[in-house]
Parts: sequence; structure tokens; C-alpha cells
Amino acid sequence: MTWKYKREASRFCTYFSLMLICAHPCALLASATAASCCVASEKKRVQGRALLSSVSGKVSSVSGKNLKRSDKSLMHFIEAKGILNNNGGFLGMNIYRGCSHGCIYCDSRSKCYQFTYAFEDIEVKKNAPELLENVLRSKRRKCMIGTGAMSDPYMHCEKELMLTRKCEEIIYRSGFGFAVQTKSDMILRDIDLLDEINRQAKCVVQMTLTTYDDELCGLIEPNVCNTKRRLEVLAKMQERGIPTIVWLTPILPFINDTVENILAILRECYSAGVKGIICFGIGVTLREGDREYFYAALDKHFPGLKEKYISTYGDAYDVPSVHSGKLKRVMEDFCAEHKMMCRPDECFQYMNELPEKFEQTSFF
Ligand code: SF4
Repeated sequence: MTWKYKREASRFCTYFSLMLICAHPCALLASATAASCCVASEKKRVQGRALLSSVSGKVSSVSGKNLKRSDKSLMHFIEAKGILNNNGGFLGMNIYRGCSHGCIYCDSRSKCYQFTYAFEDIEVKKNAPELLENVLRSKRRKCMIGTGAMSDPYMHCEKELMLTRKCEEIIYRSGFGFAVQTKSDMILRDIDLLDEINRQAKCVVQMTLTTYDDELCGLIEPNVCNTKRRLEVLAKMQERGIPTIVWLTPILPFINDTVENILAILRECYSAGVKGIICFGIGVTLREGDREYFYAALDKHFPGLKEKYISTYGDAYDVPSVHSGKLKRVMEDFCAEHKMMCRPDECFQYMNELPEKFEQTSFF
């Protein structure tokens, strides 16, 4: 997820305000300021390091054909002071910081986040489950808890560490609702648990889709499962009755900004029963740190395209598709016709609401 989307999303849904999320993207969104402060304090408490490859070596078989290992990444284990970011009554958490999925457009690698090590290194809040259990025990009102805004909660290391799963177990035991954002099919490992959360309270799974072309997907999102697999995940959620939201972002100018791509994704979303599409604009955002990485990827995979970006956009932060107006109408018309939410505020309101069924079960 680009910063623009995080910023806009945070206007509607700050529970995604993870303390430095996921940019992920993907995910969702957290207050970057709060996140930066949180991270800065945590850096002082780094207690250990371990080779990421030592815990992620078997991941390739889990997440799809185009997944590669991040052999040079490191892990930084820390004792965090806090796990939840409370903003306006909505709670968000980031268990990890940094991301190994390798999306070429990732805003989270931007210099403003002040990473002191490679973005592919993963900072792990090893005491996240304990912190979460303690804080939820003290909450009098149940609500939705979000994760996935600044780093994907189902990165390679999660297979071994299982911190996301442990936090989900705590959320289930505590009776809270859960909204999780990912690009990874590793989430299927926990589908039984997500199903239980949804039956008891509410669970919303958010998946990011940017391109219908899986070959292209392998270039722009190289270390995570491809779009076809993500659609299979959405279908499996639909079978369980777990509601889903799709982040249709970013749409990269001159790469995936076509009517064919947008419609192909939307048709699949409709088939998978996706409730809503989140898209803040047809384009991408680029800034220092993020831009250099993106341009290097363009040079590698799309020779000559970097020069076209520079001549078209210069150093602009907002990089909209030249077809943005047309593509936005295509998306809005499709969603209206198929009764899918496509306004961000609608989607966030839906994800923030915890149904009364919890209130009915909370007395037992
Ligand atoms: S690399 Fe991809 S999945 Fe990871 S935080 Fe960035 S955009 Fe999200």
C-alpha cells in the first residue's frame, strides 16, 4: 500500500493504524507518525538477530510458484512496550515491521520511515501475544482489531513464528472482531480460526489485487503468491462465509492501468463474493526510497519505462494513470451494477462495525 492510500484510509479507519504496518500493503493503515515514534523506541530494545532464511527455508512450497526466499534478510527480535494503536476507538496492531514480499512499488520502504536496516529485514515483536492478551483483558468494550497495514502479517517468517496465529487465538478467546489484510495464501493455514472468530464476532479478510496477469504479478510482487492463488483464497473464504474486501491498489501507470485488467479483477471479485473494493485513486505514489527501488525494478523488467515516468511525472509524489478518469468510472459502474461497495468510507465503516451477535454471546 502506498502512503497516499494509508493516509486516506486512516481518515476512515484508524484501527488499521498499525504501528508501522504493513504498508502493505498492502493493509492497512496506520498513523505513520505514531508508527515512527513506536518504532524509534523499539529500536533501542533490539535484543537479538537471526537469519530469516533459517526460519523461512520451506516457505516456497507454501505460498505459490512465484515465491522466492529472502536469503539475505535478517530478523530483529524485540520486546515491544505496546502492541495496539488506539485511534478513535479502533484498534490496530503490527506484529512485524519490514516485509519480505518484495513488491516493487512498496511505500513502506520510503526513507521517511527511517529504517536503520534493510526493508527486507523483519522486526519481530516477539512478545506481541502477551501484550495483546493483557491489553484485551482490560478492555470493557469489544471492537474490531485490524492488522496488515504496514507489513504483511503472513510473511514467510510467520510460518515458523506463528505470532499472527497466536494473536488471532487471543482475539478469538477474548471475543473481539478481526480485520486482516494480506497478499499471502498462508492465511489459509488459519482459516478454521478465522471462521470461528467470524461466527463468534466478525472477521473480515482483505486481499490486495493489482494485476490479473500472473506473469506480471511475478514481476511486481515477486515473493508472494500470484493473483490466481489469491483469488482461490477469496473463494475459500466465501465458502466459509467469511466476508472479504479487495484492495485494488496500486494501479501502475503504463503497466497495469488498462480496462481489461480492472474488469478482469473485478469480475473475479464478484464471483468470489467480495463485498467491497477499496481504491483511492488509479495510480501510485512515489517518494524517496520507494522511488529509487521502483525505478530500479523498471530498469530491470521494463526497459525504457523509467524514462517515461520521469518525463511524465518528474519527481511528483502522486503518480496517477493518464487513464485514471476512465478507469475509475469503469470500476464504479461495475461495482454499482454488481452491488459491491466501492467507496472507501463504506468499506471502512463495514469493517469497523462489530455486530450485535457478540453482545448476545458475551454474557455466557
Ligand atoms: S512489500 Fe508488498 S506486501 Fe510487503 S508491505 Fe510492501 S506492499 Fe505490502
